Amino acid sequence: MKLYSTRNKENIADLKEAVMKGLPDDNGLYMPESIPKLPQDFINNLSDYSFQEIGITICKELFGDYIPASDIEQIINKALEFPAPVVQLDEHRYILELFHGPSLAFKDFGARFMAQLMGYFNKGEDDKLVILVATSGDTGGAVAAGFYQTLGIEVVILYPSGKVSTLQEKQLTTLGHNITALEVDGTFDDCQALVKKAFLDPDLTSRIRLSSANSINIARLIPQSFYYFEAFKQLPKEGHPIVFCVPSGNFGNLTAGLLAQRMGLPIAHFIAATNKNDVVPSYLDSGQYEPRPSERTLSNAMDVGNPSNFARMVDIYRAFEEVDSPIESAWGDMRNAISGFAYSDSATESAVLEVSKKYDYTIDPHGAVGYLALEEYQNEHPNTRGIILETAHPSKFLDDMERILGREVEVPERLSVLKDREKKAHYTENDYDDFRSWLLNNY
Ligand SMILES: *Cc1c(COP(=O)(O)O)cnc(C)c1O
Repeated sequence: MKLYSTRNKENIADLKEAVMKGLPDDNGLYMPESIPKLPQDFINNLSDYSFQEIGITICKELFGDYIPASDIEQIINKALEFPAPVVQLDEHRYILELFHGPSLAFKDFGARFMAQLMGYFNKGEDDKLVILVATSGDTGGAVAAGFYQTLGIEVVILYPSGKVSTLQEKQLTTLGHNITALEVDGTFDDCQALVKKAFLDPDLTSRIRLSSANSINIARLIPQSFYYFEAFKQLPKEGHPIVFCVPSGNFGNLTAGLLAQRMGLPIAHFIAATNKNDVVPSYLDSGQYEPRPSERTLSNAMDVGNPSNFARMVDIYRAFEEVDSPIESAWGDMRNAISGFAYSDSATESAVLEVSKKYDYTIDPHGAVGYLALEEYQNEHPNTRGIILETAHPSKFLDDMERILGREVEVPERLSVLKDREKKAHYTENDYDDFRSWLLNNY
């Protein structure tokens, strides 16, 4: 399987290089050179396939003979360990729950698949691969759980001391085995700077094999396309156009949906739902792409001012001859395929309440932004059936949820049990030389 850089189609890598490197040298993003159309028979009979079988079928088509079938099966069976159920709200609307993994958010799918793929590519290497991750709380939990007990891979997670929630900290510091937490006396930016410096330190990288678990790694995107098929399979076959509504920040989920559509899944339309960080809805509206610093909102996992996957969306829709203005050339086709809507925090709070009252369903603030967008879209398109991606479990935002709803919100056991586990972290000053010697002593 070959991939190219969105900056330059001639800049080609194979899957192993793309996954292990994360980013091409020209700072573009990797995209698959060809996106296979899946057999019509498969699309028509999705309900004959388990979630794992769906993932296996897609990977076999995508990877070709690059990875032997039996290895693909092993990778997927280990990566897709939790379900993605669809819940019906009413006649027109459904919710795809993506929070059944260990860190209660959809990022578990990407992290777990990336871990399996990296573990696979790392086989036969004598030295351990050490993954460095800086986290402000959330990504670290998904990466830690995803890579837990992956053979040949060690994970070092740097987090800012006192600046992550207690439960987030427990997600990073209680696993043990190949997951080590470094509690840094500094900010998230300090953690990130330490990691960056390590990657740029040739003496260190010649002695330890380092890699990152970057959120824009293609290995995080691929498995996110699986659950579009999985959702489709669970809907009644009534012949209505199916639309997906995607609460978005860096637009990885939405891009994965576009891939699923390219692979032949008959998705009629996409809805991009954002909070007031609305650069993509504005672009769909005006054709002008104007990134700006993000602003803090209630749905804070979507507080992104310059979405990293926008380059991939442009790449899907651009006319390749127009090298000078790809963003301009992508606009027409992109706005035909995707509608954008943005909402304030107060509208989001009302939606959380409305969904609770009307449907007795607890939707988190990110899903609530999606709920609003789907409602607005379906006012104009009443014949459609819509699926909202519920990107996280409401208990991840416990304080806000309980304030809005005026009642307790249940915390799933897999999270609540962490409270009583013992934290194990290595405390370190915000000092590169200390960090470096610690790495050299331990790996
Ligand atoms: C990461 C995240 C998002 C944004 O997803 P993208 O793929 O970056 O658009 C939305 N909701 C939650 C809860 C998230 O954690």
